[in-house]
Amino acid sequence: MKKKNLGIHHITAIVGHPQENIDFYAGVLGLRLIKKTVNFDDPNTYHLYFGDEVGSPGTAITFFPFIQSREGRIGGGQVATTSYIIPPGSMEFWKSRLYDFNIPYIVNERFGEKYVQFQDPHGLELKLVEREEGKNNKWEFAGVTSDVAIKGFGGATLLSVLPDKTVQLLEEILGFDRIGQELDIIRFKSPGPIGNIIDLKTTPVSFGRMGIGTVHHIALRAKDDEDMMEWKNYLEDKGYNVSPIRNRKYFKSIYFREHGGNLFEIATDGPGFAIDEKFEELGKGLMLPPQYEDRRQEIEKKLIPVEVKEILD
Ligand code: ZN
Repeated sequence: MKKKNLGIHHITAIVGHPQENIDFYAGVLGLRLIKKTVNFDDPNTYHLYFGDEVGSPGTAITFFPFIQSREGRIGGGQVATTSYIIPPGSMEFWKSRLYDFNIPYIVNERFGEKYVQFQDPHGLELKLVEREEGKNNKWEFAGVTSDVAIKGFGGATLLSVLPDKTVQLLEEILGFDRIGQELDIIRFKSPGPIGNIIDLKTTPVSFGRMGIGTVHHIALRAKDDEDMMEWKNYLEDKGYNVSPIRNRKYFKSIYFREHGGNLFEIATDGPGFAIDEKFEELGKGLMLPPQYEDRRQEIEKKLIPVEVKEILD
């Protein structure tokens, strides 16, 4: 039986200054900073998570802000564009909001859907598209009310150095359905309720360079530990080299790199972000995994102080 994935769990990117990152994703886009922690492999840098009011799977974008890192170049083996769903009728609100914040945007159409495309302050390409699917985001901040708030991911556009191999992965292994093609973009859809579209460019693109302004990996959802274990065995049977299961505290994860260069993760829906902070407190404290708790003072001293604040446009 072919397994079907449930769509995007989270997307993780590399950016520059953490305050600029927070000012944009919380202050301009109105997402909730749901977790402020550190890179579990390098505790001297933040790992920041933004999503809907609880960071539901399919809404969370996460960042490693590296001030010293070199600039990246978007290319093969990377997510080129991340798209977000906004409620039907809210596009005019977003266009005028982007205008007010001096953020240049273009309006375009793909597969019969209009979208607004723009960049975050560090060069990541983002899109907003109106769709019915997904529940309204209850988080209201800085003039972004629930009726216009970003609901979560719509999908992602992937670039591949070997698009035929990436097609095979998406269709034959990850269980996406091919639902259309427009010029050199194939659209795939999974049965998930949100974050369920992957667009793939069929023209091969040479490798990008990881760095500021590029996506590091894209994570798909597993229902629970058992489902993830099934994915691990299934991918290994198909010849993929899959990492051991890693405990990321808010979910468990496995990673594998596909032949077209993209780094995929499969992450469990639970336990979620409320495991170490109450709903009201999400994103407020610096949450460290247990192995770093005894180094808290030293770690806090090295991190740049940041805050969630309203931005004047
Ligand atoms: Zn991840």
